[in-house]
Amino acid sequence: MIIQTDKIVRRIEDEIVRIKEKRTPILCCIGFQDDGSTLSYFRSIERVAEKLGIIVKKERFSGLSSQTVVSSIVSLSRDRDIDGILLSRPIPSPYDAEEIRDALNPEKDIDCITEKNFGRLITDNILYIPPTPGAVMEIIKGFGIETRGKRVVIVGRSDVVGKPLALLLLQKGVDATVTVCHSRTEGLLSHTRTADMLIVAVGIPNFLKSDMVKPGTVVIDVGINLKNGKIVGDVDFEEVKKVAGMITPTPGGVGPVTTRILLLNVVKGFKVQGSTVQGSTVQEFNIHQP
Ligand code: NAD
Repeated sequence: MIIQTDKIVRRIEDEIVRIKEKRTPILCCIGFQDDGSTLSYFRSIERVAEKLGIIVKKERFSGLSSQTVVSSIVSLSRDRDIDGILLSRPIPSPYDAEEIRDALNPEKDIDCITEKNFGRLITDNILYIPPTPGAVMEIIKGFGIETRGKRVVIVGRSDVVGKPLALLLLQKGVDATVTVCHSRTEGLLSHTRTADMLIVAVGIPNFLKSDMVKPGTVVIDVGINLKNGKIVGDVDFEEVKKVAGMITPTPGGVGPVTTRILLLNVVKGFKVQGSTVQGSTVQEFNIHQP
């Protein structure tokens, strides 16, 4: 079975519209360079935000000193009209990623990257669910996929996907038995072939082949890669779908759910701060240069 996530997407969109009521929340997206992937990431968020009545304000910090970037983020964090702040990642050198991240007020950290919000995942006291792991959890829940006591193997240990997802799957009530594999894992196949659920986030096109999968397994493909001008996942979809019990497609699948969870977090941030600004939902980049 192919896991179509459009119903989940619509449900979250309805929830966003319901929670935001008639107001206009503001998401501030901060980029550090003029690269295509940041621009297309922000654009994809903007398209959905516009439809849902959320303003996306874009800031680009280009060639500025660390101190200026930090003080700008601190001041955006204090801006009561802004409900959530998204920093493009990775934060490029020469900036100190930790210093930049720490400048962000956790209450505006809708992407769950500050130490405080990340740490809340460990204590099950979540302020904002990290969007990509949150999307995977929504899919699991939405399709009634059993996790209790099940052997879930995550391939990829990044701070964005693998690590936070492992914590969410370990929560009481979810109760999965989680294994996290990575580039130094020995005998990867011995893990993937015994999984009841396989979640793949390695960033390598078509990485997961059918011989790595136990028949009937649930396969969730987090990967989004550009190959020969096309978006492909980390799973060799055409081959693996013949073996898997359930499988997410790419494009589609996890990506669109991630964007909605991010925007749901913005609306929740808006509720916390009670902003009143109204206006167009599309804005040009505000470029900061030395
Ligand atoms: P990353 O580069 O930070 O991490 C990749 C992980 O894969 C690392 O932990 C590494 O150890 C592991 N890995 C690499 N080669 C491996 C191998 N041969 N065997 C086992 N493990 C290996 O990447 P990321 O930011 O976690 O992103 C992973 C993928 O997910 C990318 O394609 C990215 O575009 C995509 N992504 C999608 C969403 C979404 O919303 N769907 C969000 C974030 C990232």
